[in-house]
Amino acid sequence: MTRNFKRSELACPCCNKCEMNLVFMDRLQVMRDLYGKPITIVSGYRCPLHNKAVRGSPRSDHLRGEAVDIRVNDKTSSELYRLRELAFKLEFNGLGFGKNQFHLGIRPGEGKSWSY
Ligand SMILES: [Zn+2]
Ligand SMILES: [Zn+2]
Repeated sequence: MTRNFKRSELACPCCNKCEMNLVFMDRLQVMRDLYGKPITIVSGYRCPLHNKAVRGSPRSDHLRGEAVDIRVNDKTSSELYRLRELAFKLEFNGLGFGKNQFHLGIRPGEGKSWSY
């Protein structure tokens, strides 16, 4: 889909649909370029069925193809800090910070960030 992200990484695992928003994908690629290291996608596009199966929020950014969950491989604080800074800088406004993964999303209206 972009230089560093393949469709196969982003498609819904249950039906192989991949309706990722291209503006979102461009932004993710910019983040990847600035980060300068591989970013592993845990979850990209989700169809309504799969979103239910993983207990995603009914209004999840994943349903619109405007979110990814990325694996945090390197949990040193400087790496976490860099990823967060980039996410804020690039104006991802749906940000979830989990133990082993981050949710990066774009949502209409007011932004939101949470820990999980
Ligand atoms: Zn599906
Ligand atoms: Zn997510």
